[in-house]
Amino acid sequence: MKQFDFEEERIRQEIKKLEAKHVLIQLPEGLKPHGPHLAGVVEKAGALPIVSADPCYGACDLATAEAESLGADLIIHYGHAKLLKYERVPTIYVEARATVKVNEAVEKAVPLLEKWSKIGLATTVQHVQTLDNVKEILLHAGKTVVIGDAGHMNYSGQVIGCDYSNAKSVAGDVEAFLFVGGGRFHALGVALSTSKPTIVADPYEKRAFSVDEGARKILKQRWASIEEAKKAKTFAVLVGLKPGQKKLEKALSIKEKLEKNRKKVHLFAIRNVTPEVLMNFPTVNSYVNTACPRLSLDDASKFQKPVLTMNEAFVVVGELSWDELCRKGLFES
Ligand code: SF4
Repeated sequence: MKQFDFEEERIRQEIKKLEAKHVLIQLPEGLKPHGPHLAGVVEKAGALPIVSADPCYGACDLATAEAESLGADLIIHYGHAKLLKYERVPTIYVEARATVKVNEAVEKAVPLLEKWSKIGLATTVQHVQTLDNVKEILLHAGKTVVIGDAGHMNYSGQVIGCDYSNAKSVAGDVEAFLFVGGGRFHALGVALSTSKPTIVADPYEKRAFSVDEGARKILKQRWASIEEAKKAKTFAVLVGLKPGQKKLEKALSIKEKLEKNRKKVHLFAIRNVTPEVLMNFPTVNSYVNTACPRLSLDDASKFQKPVLTMNEAFVVVGELSWDELCRKGLFES
């Protein structure tokens, strides 16, 4: 059985309805192996498929410029819910909902939630359809369950790497969170954004575990990066070139604040923030990343110099205290 619903019938119908001739297929890394099969679906529907082999981590990274340069008249973006308000090229989002059952992992999470009775739920778009079922299991275990909806995301309880508003909106009403999904990244984001104990129910590995120790380690590391950045003389503010990551005004605003703190500041435009790219600038002592905040959580140890999020940069310029930063969230603007 396939682990994800690729909505192949909907794709066939949409291609025919839109009379698309050239289709650019965009997939996140974990779904890339399905690219050739999905290209076959597009081809059978009568269009020329082109699979984007470039990295893609979110719907912020819609391959609009690539589609335009290839003359594609349709983008099919897999694995994320719609994020951008407008698209220059017609775009179909296939959220690729997971078909894996969550029950076993959630049952294993129940003993780890023993100390708390009020539980908040959070998940990625792949599993939002399971939250009612997860809630039932927790209610049966005697818990009170809250699912947040702050109105920014497409679904209640949904989180993405730069928006934990749904979890934050109910953090005051719960004692701990249960995150349903694979890996640690989003669960760490929930823990760091809410300062609440967070347990993962991973339906792929059918196991449950806490990310609290990992969150504490990240907080220590972020504190050290901010302290190092305070001593830096020269900064570069990174401006993302991906459609949903371009925040030039915010970059200009933080540049001005740093300059008022007697720092020398450059602006760098960038598509993918990697340690290799930043190594080309030995005179820069510290970076502020206004593009995707994910790497401050995921890859921070790979960078030789501090790479701060916007909120962390506000601590450097004295606009936020460390405690205020922890309340506001390290990664969200
Ligand atoms: S966390 Fe990064 S990749 Fe994910 S949606 Fe936000 S900006 Fe995009």
